[in-house]
Amino acid sequence: MKVFRSKKTLQDYIERQKEMGKKIGFAPTMGSLHEGHLSLYTQASKENDLVISSVFVNPTQFNNPSDLEKYPRDFNRDIKILEKAGNVDAVYLPEIVDLYPDGLKSKGYDFDGLENEMEGKFRSGHFDGVGTVVEELLLQVKPDNAYFGEKDYQQLLIIEKLTEKLKLPVKIHGVPIFREKSGLAMSSRNERLTPEQRESSKVIHETLIKVNDWFRIITIPEINKRIKDIFDDQRGMMLEYFVIADEKTLKETDFFYKGHDYRAFIVVFVNDIRLIDNMHLD
Ligand code: AMP
Repeated sequence: MKVFRSKKTLQDYIERQKEMGKKIGFAPTMGSLHEGHLSLYTQASKENDLVISSVFVNPTQFNNPSDLEKYPRDFNRDIKILEKAGNVDAVYLPEIVDLYPDGLKSKGYDFDGLENEMEGKFRSGHFDGVGTVVEELLLQVKPDNAYFGEKDYQQLLIIEKLTEKLKLPVKIHGVPIFREKSGLAMSSRNERLTPEQRESSKVIHETLIKVNDWFRIITIPEINKRIKDIFDDQRGMMLEYFVIADEKTLKETDFFYKGHDYRAFIVVFVNDIRLIDNMHLD
C-alpha cells in the first residue's frame, strides 16, 4: 500500500493511474479506523480497479474545540489496519496546507436546505466544513466513485448535493451502517467509551428498532414522547435530538404521508461523547 503525505506526490500517482485507465474508488475518513470504515473499502474494491482512502481530522467541521481536541488520532495504527485489510491501494495523509492552501477556513455552501436540518441546527458551520474538505479531496483524488457511510446519512445526502451542484464527475455511493455485536453503530468516538458506557449505549440502536416497530402504528408525537421517556431514564446519557424525517428532504415530519420514505435520526451524549445513529423505517 502506498502512503502519500503531500498533495504533490498524490497527484503524480493519480495522474499515472488515470493514464492507465484505472477506475478509482475513494473513501475519505478522519482515521481511528474501525470495521465501519473497512466496509467502505470492501464495497469500493468490488467496484473499482484501485481503492484510495484518506485520513485527515478536518478542523473546520468541528463546532466544538474540545471535541476536536479529544478526537482520537493514531496514524501509525491506521496504516497498520489498512495494510492488514489488504484492499486499499493507497492512503493520503494530507497536511493542513495541502487542503487549505489559503488558511483554515470553510467556504459557504447552499445545499438546498439540507444543511439546515438536524446536524445543521446543532453543529453550526459543520456542513460548510465537510463540504470544503470533501470538495478539495474529490478535486485532488479525482475518483470515479466515492463511498460514504449511511451512519452520517445527512452528510451523505449533502455530498450527493455538493457533487451535483459542482458537476463533479464522481458517483457517490452510500454504504450501510456497520454495527458492533450489541447493535451500537461503529464509530471512532466509541473508543472513548468505558466498557460500561459501551454496554449501555446499545439502547440507542434498540430504541431505533422500537421506533421501526411503532412506525405507522402510533403517531409521531407519541413516538417522540416515548423516546424522551426512554432517555430520561438513562443515567449518564442525554438525548440531543430524535427526529423522524423524510428520507429525501430530511424535513422533520409529524405525520406519515403515503408514498414517502422515512428515517429516524438520533443523537445521544454519553457524558461528553456524542453518538449518532439512524434507521430507515419500513
Ligand atoms: P469518519 O472517519 O467518522 O469521518 O467516517 C468516514 C466515513 O466512514 C464516513 O463516510 C462515515 O459515514 C463512514 N462510517 C463511519 N462509521 C461507519 C459505520 N459504522 N458504518 C458505515 N460507515 C461508517
